[in-house]
Amino acid sequence: MSLHFDTRAVRAHVPHGANQPLSEPIVLATTYAAGTAANHRELYQSGATTFYRRFGNPTAAAAARVIADLEGAEEAIVFGSGMGAISSALFAVLRAGDHVVASREIFAQTRTVLDTVLRGYGVETDFVDERDPANVAAKIKSNTRLIYLETPSNPLLHVADIAAVARHVKPGIELFVDGTFASPALQSPLALGATLSIHSATKFLGGHSDVMGGVASGRRELVARLREMQILLGTVMDPHAAWLLLRGVRTLGVRVRRQAETALALAGALAKHPAVASVSYPYLETDPGFTVASRQMRGGGGVVTFLPRGGVDAGRRFADSLKLIPIATSLGGVETIVELPYDLDFGEENGDGGPSEVAGAIRMSVGLEDFSDLWADIDQALAASHAREPLDVHYAR
Ligand code: PLP
Repeated sequence: MSLHFDTRAVRAHVPHGANQPLSEPIVLATTYAAGTAANHRELYQSGATTFYRRFGNPTAAAAARVIADLEGAEEAIVFGSGMGAISSALFAVLRAGDHVVASREIFAQTRTVLDTVLRGYGVETDFVDERDPANVAAKIKSNTRLIYLETPSNPLLHVADIAAVARHVKPGIELFVDGTFASPALQSPLALGATLSIHSATKFLGGHSDVMGGVASGRRELVARLREMQILLGTVMDPHAAWLLLRGVRTLGVRVRRQAETALALAGALAKHPAVASVSYPYLETDPGFTVASRQMRGGGGVVTFLPRGGVDAGRRFADSLKLIPIATSLGGVETIVELPYDLDFGEENGDGGPSEVAGAIRMSVGLEDFSDLWADIDQALAASHAREPLDVHYAR
């Protein structure tokens, strides 16, 4: 029986027997009595979740089963953070002498792991403009082991065509997709040919700005290699976090759909506003990613990035003028927040040393508030953002 996404998310792991709790128990134990020496050995060798918590945990395993189901994967694994998932996955598949082709617009710390840490261990990465699959194909070499996409990307919401890139994935090459900005509710990378789907669960999956985690889903053999690396690096998810993740996914579909509806409405209103220079949102018809996004996503997601006219100062003035919406990092929670990527790690990096594309940009993660309350706040902050400057000064994208 094939169930709708929300039905699967809500019903996952609701036991059917009498006197069963409707939410998963939180198992905190770090170790378990094995009974006999033979059983102890068996628990260790079989990868049981009742051996030692760094090797597995029943609450974390329950969360992983739900994620695998929502992703359409053979298996999934949960981590203590999105970066825990990403770094464990990269270390699991890459060796000295290997080559990676990665999205140029990519989460800053993922770039640092590839460009600094792994380069130091002899892994070479080419960063390409992932919006054209031909750019990815052109860089594939005999030692390419991994293509790494982030779509939609952080922070400019570039869209990569997963299926088109997947056509270049020959045996021996993995295709990892970080789909954090879409969440499993809006995008199914494995169905499009990715071999590993990764998310920061800190974002939409958790959904309430109170849980840190990461997830990765794919074929059983690959996930087993990630688990080996997780045991070595210790990137495990805490059982409390796993429980909050299980709770979060139960409302993922309804939250993300509402966030995407409001985000689309805000993106449309921003695009028409005279104090806004440009808007990035994959489901805006004018967005360069629209054609691919409308094919591979089930909604544009809850993040809108835009550039108030007037450059960096205008962006900062806009953020400082907001009354309802706080300035905070992260995304995917029930409350709308804004971040200024230029003032964080993203500012210096555009991949080819040119002027930063995010100078003055506002990355807004849209929550569950009413559109009209959000727009009233944004509108008054835009008015304040250019109050002391003519509209068309020194800003060029
Ligand atoms: N991937 C993307 C696209 C992100 O935006 C982030 C965090 O912002 C991460 C990965 C890292 O996730 P975490 O902060 O949970 O380690």
